[in-house]
Amino acid sequence: MKRMLSGIKPSGQLTLGNYIGALRNFVKYQDDYELFVFVANLHCITVPQDPAQLKKNLKDCIAIYLACGLDPEKCTLFLQSDVLEHAQLGWIIDCNTYLGELNRQTQFKDKKAKGETNLTAGLYTYPCLMAADILMYDADYVPVGADQKQHVELARDVAERFNNRLGDTFVVPEPVVAEVGAKIMSLSDPTKKMSKSENDDKGCIILLEDIAITRKKIMSAVTDSLAYVRFDPENQPGISNLLTIHSAISGESIDSIVARYEGKGYGEFKKEVAEVVCTEIQKLQDEYKRVIESGIIEKVLEDGANKAQRIARKKLNKVQRKLGLDIFRK
Ligand code: AMP
Repeated sequence: MKRMLSGIKPSGQLTLGNYIGALRNFVKYQDDYELFVFVANLHCITVPQDPAQLKKNLKDCIAIYLACGLDPEKCTLFLQSDVLEHAQLGWIIDCNTYLGELNRQTQFKDKKAKGETNLTAGLYTYPCLMAADILMYDADYVPVGADQKQHVELARDVAERFNNRLGDTFVVPEPVVAEVGAKIMSLSDPTKKMSKSENDDKGCIILLEDIAITRKKIMSAVTDSLAYVRFDPENQPGISNLLTIHSAISGESIDSIVARYEGKGYGEFKKEVAEVVCTEIQKLQDEYKRVIESGIIEKVLEDGANKAQRIARKKLNKVQRKLGLDIFRK
């Protein structure tokens, strides 16, 4: 069975973008792959976090993973910082990545270009830690949203370079970007990604928010004045985004939805999108409550960390041996 690994960085509350672009896909993958899913809490602190809020976000993230249908019997679910080897391999990868490579990573470049101040060294080397997360487990595939593809490509480059220099050590991973829903856009500005980090209340659907608010956000989503439902991201980004959201959740093809709305107005279309989204999120929230009340999270994380750590330890030993870091280990 091929191995697949992915992580989510819950630096805020999880959104519909996370759900469609990442979470939901993991559940499908757990039957076909040996799946590792973790909460990237070390990545969260690359930007300032309020400790109490962070703790809540991390717990909610695990609960949402479980609520979505990830089954700890089928996959390994853990918290990144519970496996200390991540930070150590991260350092080794820092030392095997060129400044030029990091300078090309758009996530950091964008923040810098926006004039954000007090950017940390951790944010800059974020892709190295992410490469460590991936290479540690010999992941064949890494499902991510479109914005994270570049980071997986860096992990590939680092793995190839290391293998060429010191012999076969890492599996070279492949990014997997789902076709529908790889980039869900903001409801209030459909030219921007739906993101919890932007200060964009109306544009971003939070998975655990009140359903009535979700409905309202969809009903007031920014559209255009063309007045026909058509998939044309360039000229009708708002409508196209709603079509993508609908199709990703309902499974109905975009063409088929478009055909049903010929000659009809946006109001009716939005109502249907809201219904599809709210039904899905309500189910998720019910399941989330059940998970929180069941108190299983601690045990799930403990088992997951033990399993992940056994693999991580072995890989780190191998890497250190190759580098000549260890004196007595053969
Ligand atoms: P983040 O929340 O930015 O750490 O992202 C976690 C995962 O969700 C990554 O695979 C992202 O690419 C994906 N993701 C986040 N926002 C969106 C979005 N608006 N559309 C699609 N995927 C997203």
